[in-house]
Amino acid sequence: MSTKKVYLFPEGSKDQKNLLGGKGANLAEMTNAGLPVPAGFTITTEACLDYYRDGELLSDVLMEQVYTALDQLEQQTQKQFGNDVNPLLVSVRSGSVFSMPGMMDTILNLGLNDKTVVGLANLTRNPRFAYDSYRRFIQMFSNVVLGIDHYFFEEVIDGLKEKRGVSEDTALSAEDWQEVIGRYLEIVQTKTNAPFPQDPKVQLSQAIEAVFRSWNNARAKVYRKINKIPDDLGTAVNVQLMVFGNLGDDSGTGVAFTRNPSTGEKELYGEFLINAQGEDVVAGVRTPKPIADLKEQMPSIYKKFVELSSLLEVHYGDMQDIEFTVERGKLYILQTRSGKRTAQAAVKIAVDLVSEGKISKEEALLRIDPDQMDQMLHPRIDPNVTLQVIAKGLPASPGAASGSVIFDADEAEKMTEKGQKVILVRPETTPEDIHGILAAQGILTSRGGMTSHAAVVARGMGKACICGCEQLKIDLRNELVVIGNLTIAKGDHITIDGSSGQVIQGTVPLIDPNLSTEFEQLLLWADEVRRLKVRANADNPVDAKKAREFGAEGIGLCRTEHMFMEPDRVPIVQQMILADNEEEQQSALSKLLPMQKEDFKGIFAAMDGLPVNIRLLDPPLHEFLPNMEDLVVELTKMQYENTNTQESVTTEALLKKVRALHEFNPMLGHRGCRLGMTNPEIYQMQVEALFLAVVESKQAGITVSPEVMIPLVGHVQELKALRRMVIAVGEKIQEETGVSFDYTIGTMIEIPRAALTAEEIAEQADFFSFGTNDLTQTTFGFSRDDAEGKFLHTYVDQKVLPENPFIVLDQAGVGSLIKMATVAGRKKKEGLKTGVCGEHGGEKNSIQFFHDTGLDYVSCSAFRVPIARLSAAQAQLNNSVKKN
Ligand code: PEP
Ligand code: MG
Repeated sequence: MSTKKVYLFPEGSKDQKNLLGGKGANLAEMTNAGLPVPAGFTITTEACLDYYRDGELLSDVLMEQVYTALDQLEQQTQKQFGNDVNPLLVSVRSGSVFSMPGMMDTILNLGLNDKTVVGLANLTRNPRFAYDSYRRFIQMFSNVVLGIDHYFFEEVIDGLKEKRGVSEDTALSAEDWQEVIGRYLEIVQTKTNAPFPQDPKVQLSQAIEAVFRSWNNARAKVYRKINKIPDDLGTAVNVQLMVFGNLGDDSGTGVAFTRNPSTGEKELYGEFLINAQGEDVVAGVRTPKPIADLKEQMPSIYKKFVELSSLLEVHYGDMQDIEFTVERGKLYILQTRSGKRTAQAAVKIAVDLVSEGKISKEEALLRIDPDQMDQMLHPRIDPNVTLQVIAKGLPASPGAASGSVIFDADEAEKMTEKGQKVILVRPETTPEDIHGILAAQGILTSRGGMTSHAAVVARGMGKACICGCEQLKIDLRNELVVIGNLTIAKGDHITIDGSSGQVIQGTVPLIDPNLSTEFEQLLLWADEVRRLKVRANADNPVDAKKAREFGAEGIGLCRTEHMFMEPDRVPIVQQMILADNEEEQQSALSKLLPMQKEDFKGIFAAMDGLPVNIRLLDPPLHEFLPNMEDLVVELTKMQYENTNTQESVTTEALLKKVRALHEFNPMLGHRGCRLGMTNPEIYQMQVEALFLAVVESKQAGITVSPEVMIPLVGHVQELKALRRMVIAVGEKIQEETGVSFDYTIGTMIEIPRAALTAEEIAEQADFFSFGTNDLTQTTFGFSRDDAEGKFLHTYVDQKVLPENPFIVLDQAGVGSLIKMATVAGRKKKEGLKTGVCGEHGGEKNSIQFFHDTGLDYVSCSAFRVPIARLSAAQAQLNNSVKKN
């Protein structure tokens, strides 16, 4: 740490954001570039950290440096702090490393007191302005530093306005403001038992301290949490000569973006107010005018501002958000920073800046946050609308959807057929609800986590979904949802935002996803750069087609169980599971086979020429059967009503089977390749359907490269046995059809034992695909649904874990296993193909890790393919930046 804690603006530069904060660094940069910036100095973020380290005390060393800087400011401005003829007045503003707009405190007009206000009145020949400024200062200082609520001050102004019979502050005179000031000073005396500080140096040190303290106010803490800004950075403080936009009609203030932050269009976008201070623009007391009007009202200022704003944009190579003030016909720039923008604007601006020759393609690629791209790939809520949020659940599948509440899947389907938009609301969904999910605009459940049935299916379909929304008390019998005092009935309209987890009352206007030409362009640049291939997780031809449109280079995971969940197939699957004899089972399998074959053919056609990875059945069989509790209720009802018919006998038999298949811990139970070992006929049927589809697709002129994937392998012997089975079926089909074809057989690595014995396993595998969802569950020993619903948020809040490991890969633990398995697998088989098909395959930080580990591809849901393409390019570029 340096001993220098205070920097005059000319002493800094834009590269010192960590030390001077974003605002301080930019003020320094602009000063040095010769822009009209009011003089000032910056107290460093290190000084803020010292303040906290020293038990919230400003050190003498710091204050000495502050007073030296103040002397220099006095010389520069030819004004004096506390002087009653020519007083120096300053603003004191926070400025953290990352912009946190409006989260911390600011004090304007500091330096005013009972004497200097007279000087200001004489100097400006405007007593009304001077007294108005003083009362603003007392109010702001008292609020921020002394903690007195604004209400007590506003009350005084309102009372006086009433007495004078006026409605606007602007109608109050200099004398009125003097009266207000008198009352304000009394309030301070009463509330703090001390007079308002008259010594400007005391005002300054207290203001600096208050800004330091505001780093830890509640809203700043929340903002940092949401935006993942570290808590230990501290804020800088900028002390700057005041310039006044409220000195008359030749003064004013405003804010402008160099491009439209909503669309990205190249046009000056902003607002201004004549005869006003910055806070008036923000406070909404007066309605600001569009910046274009400045052209008529102050033509030369407008011209100068246009010039300076394009200069700043070129200098920073990015769209700027600029605050300016005009004091008696002279333009000042108070602040510039990279403007916040929508995803759409971010992409357009980056691509346009490249074509304007202002930044390189690589810079454009690095500048876009892949997470923000999600907004562009799903319908979303119009950001200009105020929302009536009634509940919050887990943001399970992004996008937004509006519709009327429906509690039953069949009904959801019927209503949709009639052209209505519905939201399916259920305690949880099961495979039997799939048609309702397909029909609905979105899904809302009160139970279940991010991998619950509803969540996984909705994500695959790119449908909005909120899960685990526990505030909902769903009464299925009366078709009502109760949320606190609010009751929502069937048919009422709601909107769900699957990106934030918010449930909103009523219908909210949605905006369609927009794959602009600029976005396509950016992704093509990403493709030129990246090394990692990007595939998609897709289980049907429609999703496969969508994935290809989004640039997928193959299918990395086809979860074949989803094919079993189609509504017309569930009864056949149940027949297969419940069969009492081989014949019955074979009959069910022979009905399923052609259905799966057609699905495979559709996927092969959509992916003509690209690899398609088919995973054999993974979930436990009871997932395809009705819920055990529901059956018990049904049966009890039948018995109670004495309907001892064939129906109740069947239900009883069904319940018996369901009970037999019940597992204590299905996540670690009878699933994946374990099913393949105990019920080989199911896997055989799947492989047969797959190879027949290969043959027929080949005959139709489609180029197919199938990869057969075995899930949940933990021991090489499992893979060995199942590999043998696949080869046997392959030989049989080739013989029967007389068509030869190539294929590979590989395994998922999603059990720690598989990673630990990867060298052995590689002997039996043509490829590894890391199932990071299960690998995270099994490495941590967390069951995802339970963890996310019960304790994971506490872990993340208390920083026991930096992130939810099901979203961002745990590199130290799960990542080590991946690294180890990749090295061991390739030791046995040089160049062994490795990929990732867990959800981390579409997450930027995890993608960086997969790139660094040397994997060949990532695979994610179709809607995340563009995000993965961009992240993979960034991973490559970040590494070249590190090397240089
Ligand atoms: C995984 O475990 O990462 C995986 C892709 O399989 P699933 O999510 O279907 O269990
Ligand atoms: Mg898995």
